[in-house]
Amino acid sequence: MNTPLVARILLDLALDRHFDYLIPSELQDRVTIGTLVSVPFGKGGEREGCVVAISHHSAYPLDQLKAISAIKDERPSLPDALLKLADWMAEYYCCTRERALQNLMPGAVRSGRIKPKKELRFYLADAAAAAKYIAEAKKQQEKRAAMLKQLSLRPGSTADQLSRATGLGKSVLDALVKAGLVKKEAEQVDRDPFKGMKVQRTEPLPPTPDQKKALDKIFQMTDHPEDKHVLLLHGITCSGKTEVYLQAIGHILEKGGDAIVLVPEISLTPQTVNRFRSRFGDMVSVLHSGLTDGERFDEWMKVRQGKVKIAVGARSALFAPFANLKLIVVDEEHESSYKQSDAPRYNARDVAVVRGKLEGALVILGSATPSMESYHNAETGKYELVQMLKRSDPSIVLPSVRIIDMKLETYEEGKVPYFSKILIDAVRERIRNGEQTILFLNKRGYARQMMCEACGYIAMCPDCSVAYTYHRHTETLSCHLCASTVLAPDECPQCGSREIRYSGAGTERIESLCETLFQGARIARMDSDTMTRPSLYEKVLGQFRRGDLDILIGTQMIAKGLDFPNVTLVGIVNPDIGLAMSDFRAAERSFQLLAQVAGRAGRGFIPGEVIIQTNLPYNPAIQYAAEHDYQGFYDEEIVVRQEFNYPPFSHLAVLHFDGMDAAEVMSAANDFIEKVRADFDEKAVNITDPCPAPLERVKGKYRFVSVVNGEKLGAFRKRLRAEIMTWRREHKNVEFYADIDALNLI
Ligand code: ADP
Ligand code: ZN
Ligand code: ZN
Repeated sequence: MNTPLVARILLDLALDRHFDYLIPSELQDRVTIGTLVSVPFGKGGEREGCVVAISHHSAYPLDQLKAISAIKDERPSLPDALLKLADWMAEYYCCTRERALQNLMPGAVRSGRIKPKKELRFYLADAAAAAKYIAEAKKQQEKRAAMLKQLSLRPGSTADQLSRATGLGKSVLDALVKAGLVKKEAEQVDRDPFKGMKVQRTEPLPPTPDQKKALDKIFQMTDHPEDKHVLLLHGITCSGKTEVYLQAIGHILEKGGDAIVLVPEISLTPQTVNRFRSRFGDMVSVLHSGLTDGERFDEWMKVRQGKVKIAVGARSALFAPFANLKLIVVDEEHESSYKQSDAPRYNARDVAVVRGKLEGALVILGSATPSMESYHNAETGKYELVQMLKRSDPSIVLPSVRIIDMKLETYEEGKVPYFSKILIDAVRERIRNGEQTILFLNKRGYARQMMCEACGYIAMCPDCSVAYTYHRHTETLSCHLCASTVLAPDECPQCGSREIRYSGAGTERIESLCETLFQGARIARMDSDTMTRPSLYEKVLGQFRRGDLDILIGTQMIAKGLDFPNVTLVGIVNPDIGLAMSDFRAAERSFQLLAQVAGRAGRGFIPGEVIIQTNLPYNPAIQYAAEHDYQGFYDEEIVVRQEFNYPPFSHLAVLHFDGMDAAEVMSAANDFIEKVRADFDEKAVNITDPCPAPLERVKGKYRFVSVVNGEKLGAFRKRLRAEIMTWRREHKNVEFYADIDALNLI
């Protein structure tokens, strides 16, 4: 007798453990790693689960194991490498294995409710009989004969197509089926989100010298995957990065490999996505949030069955189940939208690097303003680096940037709030010339920092080099890195002025000011308040592209990927909001955003101009962005990071404790911190006291956070994960989770 096979199964329950089941001999050919099965569990119940390993052994006596009851046939399985990736994610991001696994499969596929779409197609049952019928048709048989003729011309038509072509009703077709002259068949069809959309085919462009340098490196790395497997492509906007991605994919396809392209937010980058379809046509699957469940199911299946070779999409496209993945491109790798805010709180850029390693795929991280982490990795030799610092068309020059010191404007006669005279004049000139203006203001609702109107002072924590957060209901300023708290002063500690401000204008205010300032101008606003549907976004962009708008006002939504040659002026209304965020990444984020927004100006042949209005004209993020000087910014910022031991010199995790009763949350958090602190050397793993999060209360729940900082957090994460798994049993009312490599400290 054969030794029985044992399947290790992860059940669809958040238990974070495997269960062993026997594989009945009749199922042994069909059960593989990744197969979804149903098994007996508990008292008379059935549960679904995923096979994650198969062996001849079990830690339990084999004769006590239950057997798998059935295979969930209709559902596709995951490739082995993705199961490994899910395990890694569960461990690294401190969540359950089930949660990590669920994340790898779209709900539409996992649920098993969506089936392949079938469509009825009609054929002649017997060509000779049909011909005879047509030839001998009497007057009253004319309609049927016409239908048969159409079917002989277009076999496999649908009922709709037939009635459109012949003008005859469905009853004629039914009668023919009944008479045995026509047969119908249910055939599987794709729900194609691009149905009816035509794309213009493009050919590879002869590379510029910079592009050639990048491509040579890429070819060399794909031929020697055993060396480094990550390339940071640092290229300014318009340097031709996307063209490099396209040609890199072309190379991978020739070698029979598959490729994934991640873009930050797909609805905001339709132009980029279309370039992949234009080059590679039907070999591309585009995964975006606007797909119906049916479309998502079909796209996933096309990837799994090898019908497409390229997947383009936002964060979750990283889990496209390719069998022979050879390239992952992460475009705009510095973008914070790659971080998922729910469990598993993963960063797709970092998981891409891990997936690339697991599957022997090259990973290209592309950006005009790389994250401090990635650039540091390139500088220390962990990643390869190629820089493209010239625009691909040298006749298009970088825009000139002017910094306006708003403090000097404050005392002007007849001053309009939030607008300098220079900006007003510049906009008016564009309107006269028939050119377009973008006004940018990234107003974030909740972050109310304390700022002095008179001297530009921003209240900062003396120990952490981050801005204090203003807590309204206690009238205090507090630092959530080190938990220090002071009373909010009534007057500016720097100049004594009482003109203290806690928030600035938002885009809506700017819009109404524009309406008075620029009468008769055609103005639109683009932010999450006005852009409630993707179709509105398309509509406004269409108007702007056609020149039906003079001024477009927007938040970071307008910072991405838009390419309008007639925009010759970009006004940055108030970048100080971003700089004063109570977060050590404030400078980095502001620099990235300013550089990106500035890149919207002058993409055509009229040179562009950028005007930055600020109270902080000497702030390095603003200065370096104005000079298009990434390296300068990096060199200055990296010193700060090292001094305070922030990433990339350390790893950072935020522990969250949430609950309805503040005292209970606080005491549970304190107990936990005290307990784990005892087990780790303070110098290696620094854990702050729990303190109220800047967003103290959300949906009635009090939130406390503790920040963990250390060069290596491996052992700590392991401990943390074990604690999180058992937490629920001991704490009914306090939720506890970790945000590993947190981007925000809120
Ligand atoms: P990026 O992704 O760095 O912003 P793109 O790849 O979008 O740059 O290139 C910017 C513009 O330059 C696009 O319009 C593109 O078609 C054009 N372009 C890119 N590479 C070349 C090339 N080798 N020859 C001519 N035009 C190019
Ligand atoms: Zn002041
Ligand atoms: Zn502090």
